[in-house]
Amino acid sequence: MLSSKLLPASRILRASGSSLSSSRRRTLATVASSNVVNIVEVGPRDGLQNEKGSVIPVDTKIELINRLAKAGAMNIEAGSFVSPKWVPQMGGTADVIKGIRPLPNVHYAVLVPNKRGLDDLISLLDQHTSHPSLSDEISIFTAATDQFTRANLNCTTAESLERLAPVAKAAVNRGLRVRGYVSVAVACPYTGKVDYKRTREVAAKLRDMGCYEISLGDTVGQGRPWEVAEMIEEVKKEVEVEMLAGHFHDTYGTAVSNVLTALQHGIRTIDSSVGGLGGCPYSPGATGNVATEDVLYALQDSQYKVAGSANGTINLEQMVDIGWWISEKLGRESVSRAGRAIRARRRREAEQKVKSKL
Ligand SMILES: [Zn+2]
Repeated sequence: MLSSKLLPASRILRASGSSLSSSRRRTLATVASSNVVNIVEVGPRDGLQNEKGSVIPVDTKIELINRLAKAGAMNIEAGSFVSPKWVPQMGGTADVIKGIRPLPNVHYAVLVPNKRGLDDLISLLDQHTSHPSLSDEISIFTAATDQFTRANLNCTTAESLERLAPVAKAAVNRGLRVRGYVSVAVACPYTGKVDYKRTREVAAKLRDMGCYEISLGDTVGQGRPWEVAEMIEEVKKEVEVEMLAGHFHDTYGTAVSNVLTALQHGIRTIDSSVGGLGGCPYSPGATGNVATEDVLYALQDSQYKVAGSANGTINLEQMVDIGWWISEKLGRESVSRAGRAIRARRRREAEQKVKSKL
């Protein structure tokens, strides 16, 4: 059940008196007193990056991003400037970015692991000026535990923050928005339960280096709703809830519950992946991000309204089609529960139509 409780007046006042300029906020609607939910579609990056199947060609990625924007997605993580040696799925990101048809009001973000990645993006933007811009946002990432950061980035969390600070600064100076990820915010495949104070400290450091939003990731998908609630409450002690996003994976089947829990605790931005694309290479058995279709379905007819550019929201039926289409390109079925149910319903209805004509 969703709580319809309003947030305490103190938080609303604090939000409206915030030092954060409105231009740096995702939208004014992200103020937690509103019931507008922003979706960050991470399928083309976080999703595809962690898929073990065939490498998706550049043209298909471009089509995926264009279709997502057409279905109403306004925040799309489009790719990553990492070495294709390490992450073959992300090869060709420059060509993907050059190939998309940017729509107004859609933010196309690119993950950059270091200064070199940012330089690559900036030189691409310099060579291909367009209105609207091909990309106006980078994402950077670190993790709440040293063990996970070492496995991913070969350094401690503190060292990774030190390396990221000049990247964030250069991006902000260039007029790009910077979004920070805290991986393993709830549970870590190496250390188990995470000390949420660490999650809070890392989130605050990302905020201090200029991130307009910090995405708290249950990267391995082990978090239970009550743990997610505790983690968010801890982080909120230091970072305004308007700056936080929830990023959940569905390994143990708790992702949608965790999304609803995050909303109850004031978060209004949710990362999700069409077709439930994704996984985690450092955590055997980890499944993809919560499926965008499942989040859209869960919020239909609730007190929350999903922001989007297709008649003011994101079109669930179109997302179902995209989820199946891209999953079939990977040689498998869509893992979105809503996506599967809606396709089954459509088939049943089509069969009934044929029968009624007989
Ligand atoms: Zn993820």
